[in-house]
Amino acid sequence: MTERSSTFPKVLAIDDSVLIHRLLQVRLQHEEIQLFGATRADTGIKMARELRPDVVLLDIELDLKGQGMDGFGVLQVFKDDPDLQDVSVIFIAGQSTMEERVRALDMGASDFVAKPFEIVELQARVRSALRVQKLVRMLAQKAQVDGLTGLWNRTYFDRRLSQEVGEAVRHGRSLSLVMCDVDRFKKLNDERGHPFGDKVLERLARIFQTGRGSDIACRWGGEEFGIILPNTVGSEAIEVADRYRRVIEQEVWPSVPGMVITASFGVADVLVLPNTPTTEDLVLAADAALYQAKMNGRNRVEAAVAAHLPG
Ligand code: GH3
Ligand code: MG
Ligand code: MG
Ligand code: MG
Repeated sequence: MTERSSTFPKVLAIDDSVLIHRLLQVRLQHEEIQLFGATRADTGIKMARELRPDVVLLDIELDLKGQGMDGFGVLQVFKDDPDLQDVSVIFIAGQSTMEERVRALDMGASDFVAKPFEIVELQARVRSALRVQKLVRMLAQKAQVDGLTGLWNRTYFDRRLSQEVGEAVRHGRSLSLVMCDVDRFKKLNDERGHPFGDKVLERLARIFQTGRGSDIACRWGGEEFGIILPNTVGSEAIEVADRYRRVIEQEVWPSVPGMVITASFGVADVLVLPNTPTTEDLVLAADAALYQAKMNGRNRVEAAVAAHLPG
């Protein structure tokens, strides 16, 4: 599979029969796929986590040989893992009963082929699973991206922040959140029209994408943005926010010469929060700092101070 184009979708076959792997290699060699194989449940799961395959061909009657897991077990692991639950699983059914096939489909397998398989049918089922997979991926991606700005949306923000807070707390690492709210945006909309307001939001989104590759810029809602900065202490996050603040302030808006648009920022680092901080604590802290920035005259950055935290 080394010479196969790495852009081809990945198909992982998990089957304890070496013969089946050889057969698949030969029979699927002209399909535009990268084929990978595992002969054990545990290596199959490990490979799936590393490769993130598009389709898995899974032997439901996997030999247990001291592994404590058959194909159903593997399928269950996939369905319980947020990173793998959308992978299309086609199971290979040999001696399986109708009840077992029904059970596998009910557990979330998308299709099955019976051994010994007709190669034309297997190829067609893999192609069909790949088509579905492509749509699922597109939908999943679309559901997490903001339509106007192309930034990650609130749904993604919530999920990602909770992941990052969990990691940071577990490893005692810093993690900063920058919340940004455009100043007097309602007035801007009223005076220049909503479409112009939209253009401003799009431009700000471009600016927030100029940060470090590990920073995660999201549209939090309306004219508010949330930027997650993993492994970043509060003082660094303040510098980042202030750089954005200055860039926005200096932005030239060709359709309205001389116009200055500004934004206010609130910054919080999990490390300044007491006890074991939650996602909500971090958002509240950044929000409280943002509120301070507004109170202190707008177009400025304020950081959460432990003594002023809500609650
Ligand atoms: P402040 O400085 O206190 O933040 O004042 P503000 O006017 O920005 O605050 P407010 O929250 O009252 O107004 C936010 C405005 O953002 C109101 C809403 O019409 C506008 N807005 C929210 N989403 C969009 C959008 O997608 N496009 C446009 N053009 N405007 C939006
Ligand atoms: Mg607002
Ligand atoms: Mg507001
Ligand atoms: Mg505002």
